[in-house]
Amino acid sequence: MNIQNYINGDYQLPISNEYVDNYNPSNGEVYGKIPNSNTEDIEYAYNSAKSAFRSWSKTTLEERSRILIKISELLEANLERFAKAESIDNGKPLSLATSIDIPRAASNFRFFGNAITQFASESHESVGLNAVNFTLRQPLGVVGCISPWNLPLYLFTWKIAPAIAAGNCVIAKPSEVTPMTAYLLGKICTEAGLPKGVLNIVHGLGTTTGQAIVEHPNIKAISFTGGTSTGANIARVAAPMFKKLSLELGGKNPNIIFSDCDYDKMLETTVRSSFANQGQICLCGSRIFVEASIYEKFKKDFVQKVKQLKVGHPLDASTNIGALVSKPHLEKVESYIKIAEDEGGKILCGGLEVTVEGFENGYYLQPTVIEVQNNSCRINQEEVFGPVVTIMPFTTDKEVLRLANDVKYGLSATLWTNNLNRTMQFSQKLQTGIVWVNIWMLRDLRTPFGGAKESGVGREGGFEALRFFTEPKNICIKY
Ligand code: NDP
Repeated sequence: MNIQNYINGDYQLPISNEYVDNYNPSNGEVYGKIPNSNTEDIEYAYNSAKSAFRSWSKTTLEERSRILIKISELLEANLERFAKAESIDNGKPLSLATSIDIPRAASNFRFFGNAITQFASESHESVGLNAVNFTLRQPLGVVGCISPWNLPLYLFTWKIAPAIAAGNCVIAKPSEVTPMTAYLLGKICTEAGLPKGVLNIVHGLGTTTGQAIVEHPNIKAISFTGGTSTGANIARVAAPMFKKLSLELGGKNPNIIFSDCDYDKMLETTVRSSFANQGQICLCGSRIFVEASIYEKFKKDFVQKVKQLKVGHPLDASTNIGALVSKPHLEKVESYIKIAEDEGGKILCGGLEVTVEGFENGYYLQPTVIEVQNNSCRINQEEVFGPVVTIMPFTTDKEVLRLANDVKYGLSATLWTNNLNRTMQFSQKLQTGIVWVNIWMLRDLRTPFGGAKESGVGREGGFEALRFFTEPKNICIKY
């Protein structure tokens, strides 16, 4: 199926007249073409967004809220169609797309549809000076949203929903690897009554279409989720133009397991936090540190559970692990397994491609557990973003805290312990934007979401996102 850009409320062929192939990861076949939009396409989208901004920025909060909630309802009504499209495009199990990706995309619109009605500006009385200050929070204008392939519609809408709720008009680009659900979203927005030009969805390569969005001099802000090196490139281009930037980047998250934890809960969750979505979630705990007293037991139990995971076709209801997103990505992940072995890592299970009958050219890989001797090896320092985790033992709190922080990333950490003092110590000292204690990936959309160090700049979620997508202006009145 060939897809088109969604600009000014309509599906449009690209002015560039260029296309790239869209692959189905489950069988390795091309199943459609997507536009490779160029600067002219972005200019067209920009002009449509700019025209729409005049009235959208003045649309009442109730009306904006009503439209966002309508989009949410329409997504829910089309759950099966969207989930299937996401699963085919990305390779993720249909069960995951149905239970997580699409419901969460719908929640993003509902959440920000509600949040904008509660978003308040600050006021400061200057006591003794007979003056009062209040802060206007005005929309920025036309903003750019660029999202990755791992949670396609989930992360795409996580940016778009707050941007339009706050009164901006948007030019958004999904990953060229997974464009399908973003394409389908256009029609839903039209049906929900979103005025023409408020949301413009353009498709194409990061280096063409993404770059053109970032380089556009009048696009006021860029909200980006993706790899750290892409984020650095975007910052280099955008910073001299003084664009607002929100960068959600890579991770190499520690999963720290103490012997006093609730073992069964930890084990079951650790299988999920390692391999959900084929390990292609920025929050996956890819470095597992286990207290020495339970290390051997954990190793045995964990490997046994991982071996039970079924790698299979994404649409097969019994599949736990689907296909990786693309051939280049599969090759990248495999190259890291080789690097780990060369550095002395011991493969405890997995490591090989899987042939799924009838889909022999799909990108399937066994979930892989590697025992490593130290944290300085490349497999523990670099983001693999696939179904590969490492395990190693530790003996003291101090040691594991040092290991956890000894990495350039700082997105999230998971801690398994029932010791309150330890929980507080680690919460204070872990150099990450998010710490989960005795749980993984429990998301409350009001909380600040994002990373420290090379995992990003800025926070998404709740009022943080609405603050990002508005410009504060202080008014001081003397009376
Ligand atoms: P990339 O950085 O390759 O791409 C992300 C997006 O940026 C895609 O839409 C891509 O387009 C686009 N892009 C690529 N180059 C440019 C450019 N020069 N200018 C503008 N846009 C560009 O990341 P992946 O898609 O490979 O996603 C995986 C990465 O995302 C991992 O590092 C992961 O950790 C991170 N991530 C971070 C999250 C967080 O919240 N911190 C959450 C989820 C993922 P195209 O794909 O078409 O090339």
